[in-house]
Amino acid sequence: MIKTGIIWSDQYAEYNLGEGHPMNPKRLLIPYWLLKSMNLFQLPEIQLFTPQLASDSDILLFHSPKYLQAMKILSKAGGGARPRLGLGTGDCPVFPEMHDASRLVVGGSLEGVKRIQNGDVQQAFVLLGGLHHAFAERAAGFCYYNDVVIVIKYLQQQHGFERILYIDTDVHHGDGVLGAFYKDKSVLGISLHESGEHIFPGTGHHDEIGLNDGLGYTINVPFFPGTWNDLYIMTFENIIPCVWEEYDPEFVIWQCGADGHFRDFLGHLALTTDLYSYLGKRIAELSRQGSAQGRLLLLGGGGYNPDSVARVWLATLAGITGIELPKESPPDWIDRCKERFDFEVSPHLTDPPLNWKQLSGYPFIEDEILEATHDSIHYLKRVLQDVPDWKRCEKYFQD
Ligand SMILES: [Zn+2]
Repeated sequence: MIKTGIIWSDQYAEYNLGEGHPMNPKRLLIPYWLLKSMNLFQLPEIQLFTPQLASDSDILLFHSPKYLQAMKILSKAGGGARPRLGLGTGDCPVFPEMHDASRLVVGGSLEGVKRIQNGDVQQAFVLLGGLHHAFAERAAGFCYYNDVVIVIKYLQQQHGFERILYIDTDVHHGDGVLGAFYKDKSVLGISLHESGEHIFPGTGHHDEIGLNDGLGYTINVPFFPGTWNDLYIMTFENIIPCVWEEYDPEFVIWQCGADGHFRDFLGHLALTTDLYSYLGKRIAELSRQGSAQGRLLLLGGGGYNPDSVARVWLATLAGITGIELPKESPPDWIDRCKERFDFEVSPHLTDPPLNWKQLSGYPFIEDEILEATHDSIHYLKRVLQDVPDWKRCEKYFQD
C-alpha cells in the first residue's frame, strides 16, 4: 500500500485575491469538499496534514530581502502598490493577509516534502501550491512567493539531493521555476503548457532549453490551443520518458494545475479528466523507478473553474494512488456547493469522451491542431538530439 499525504489548511481560504478574481477560495473549497464527501481521508492509505507558516529564512531561500520586506509592509498597510515588484497589479493585488496567506502556501509545500522525507508518506498532494510564476523579486500571475523554488532549494540544502525533476502540466508555462534553474543541471525542469503565443506568460518555446551547465535541462512543450487528450499523450510519450529515465531523478515535484481542462475559464486546451488520471498513473509509475523510489510531491497549481478543478484533482489522485472511484458525484457535495456558493457542479465525476468540435469558443481547425502537434514533436526532438547529455536518447528521438 502506497501512503499518500494530503496537505490542507482551512486558512488556505485566506489566499483570496478578491471578489471577481479567478484566484478565490471557491476554486479551492469546492475540490476539498469533494475529497471530504468521498470519505477519502478515512482511507488507511491517505493521511491529512496541516501546514505551518513558513519562516523568513524559508522565504529567503529564493526571494530577496527587499521583496520580503515589501510584502510585509504592504500587507500591514492593506493596500498600496510596488509596481516594480509586481505588487498591487490586477493579477497580483495587495490584500491584508497577503504575506501570511502566501507564506502558508510555502509552509504547505514544505510540509509535504517533510512528510515524504521522514517516511510518513511516500507521496503528498498539496492542494494550494505550485505558485510557479513568482520570481525572486517580482510577483506575477497570481503568485507572490514561489513555493516550488523554495522547496527545491530546501531539498538541495537540507537533504543533499543532486537531481530533482520538476514537471509542470499547468496550462501556463512554469516560467518562475524553470527560469530559476535555467543554467543548472541539478534540476531537470519540464513544462507542458498551452503555447505562449496564445496565453500568459508568453514564454516556454521549444528552443528554450537551458544555458551553460543547464543546457538541455529545461524542456518546454508548448501545445496548440484545442489540443486534446490523445495528442497530449502522444507528445508526452515521445519526449518525456527517455529523458526522465536517463536523468534518474532522486525526487520528483509535479505541478498538476487543472487549468488545461476544457471547461477552464483561462486556458484553451481540450483536455478531460481521463487525461489527468493517465498522467497521475504515468507520473507516479515513472517516479517509482530508479533513484526517486516513489518520492513524489504534487502541487495543485492553477485551475479556475471550481468544478473542473475538483474533478481533475480527484482524477489525478486516483491516478497516483490506484483508488477506484465511483462515476457519480456525491449528492451532499452537489448540495453543499449549491447552498454555500450557489454553484452548480457536475453530477458525473468523469467527463464523457469529448467531441471538441462541439465546444463553443474553440475557433480552431482539427487538422491544424494535428499538424501543429506533429511539427512540435518533430522540432523538439531535433532540438534535444543536439544536446550532448541526451545523446543516449538519440535512437528514441528518431522519427
Ligand atoms: Zn495556470
